[in-house]
Parts: sequence; C-alpha cells; structure tokens
Amino acid sequence: MITPRVGIYPGTFDPITNGHLDIIRRAARLVDRLVIGVARNDGKGPLFPTDERVEIVRDEVAHFENGDAERIEVRPFDTLLMQFAQSVGASVIIRGLRAVSDFEYEFQMAGMNARLNPDIETVFLMASDRYQFISSRFVKEIGALGGDVSHFVSPRVAIRLLDRFANGRAKPRRRVGAS
Ligand code: ADP
Repeated sequence: MITPRVGIYPGTFDPITNGHLDIIRRAARLVDRLVIGVARNDGKGPLFPTDERVEIVRDEVAHFENGDAERIEVRPFDTLLMQFAQSVGASVIIRGLRAVSDFEYEFQMAGMNARLNPDIETVFLMASDRYQFISSRFVKEIGALGGDVSHFVSPRVAIRLLDRFANGRAKPRRRVGAS
C-alpha cells in the first residue's frame, strides 16, 4: 500500500490573506493531505488570538469549491515546527516565497529544520504575481486606518478586521509609510 503524502503549511495567519489561500490551493495539489499549522506565536503579538485564527482559516478552507477541503485540516501548534510535522506524519513542509523579502529568513529556517530532521523536506512555492505584495502585516495596518482591504483578503476576513478595529479593541501598531 502506498503511504499517503502529508504536507504541512505552517504560519501565523494573522489574518489569512489571499496570498496564503493561493499557496494552500496549490499545495493541496502536491500532497494527499495538507495540514495547515497555525502557530501560536505569542512573540509576534498577534492581532487575532490563536483560536480565532484557526477558526478563520477553517472557515476559508470550507469555502473551497473544488472538494479539496476534505483533504485539508487546520490545527493550532505551539511546539517546534519539526515536532509538529512529525506528530502529524508530514514528510513535506510547504512555505510561500515572496520576491526577495522572504528569502533570507526562509533559507535559514529551512537549513536549520533540515538539520533537525533531514527526512522532512521544505518545499517553496513562489508567490503568484497578483499576490506577491500581500502581507498580513500591511493588511492589518491598512485595516487599522480604515483603508479598503478587500483586494487582499476574503470578504469574511475583511469583516473580522473591520469589527476588530471598529470596536476600538485594537490599535494600529505602526502606520503604513510612517518612519
Ligand atoms: P510566519 O509568521 O511563519 O512567516 P505568515 O502567516 O506570515 O507566517 O506566513 C506563512 C507563510 O506564507 C510564509 O512562508 C510566508 O512567506 C508565506 N506568505 C505570506 N504571504 C504570502 C503571499 N502573499 N504569497 C505567498 N506566500 C505568502
């Protein structure tokens, strides 16, 4: 019997953007089962708590229309990435790569992870042209200042952002363009 290939796509997803969704759709074609790992990542001071980020990602995946949702699972994690990968039986870690900005960090992380477990391979998917410039960080900054985020996230995520900022529950961390 052939063992199903399991991949994980880890990230903070604070919040999930159209760029992340593009990577998820493409990654789902490469593996039999895709686990999206939502990192607790308290150090990054996320806008949305882990449970809500997981809920948002699940909701987005549930809206896939091609049946892929059945092969995709969304789980929070707060362990070392390699431990999480092993615990779900993954043989592949998938990461998205935008232009030059992500390269150094991703290169180092892939190298260190390869040392921790050489049997798990990191695979990079180049960001698609139209999503190249989207980042969760800028989406939050634009949302915090009342800008239109509808080009960057799903309508559902846009509503969550609006709600979060409208109620004064969150403040912008930094202004886009401010030094
Ligand atoms: P992390 O905190 O682990 O970097 P993110 O949620 O910011 O988590 O990103 C998760 C992964 O998705 C990373 O590999 C990141 O480079 C990738 N990514 C983020 N935005 C995009 C995008 N617009 N297009 C393609 N990949 C992206």
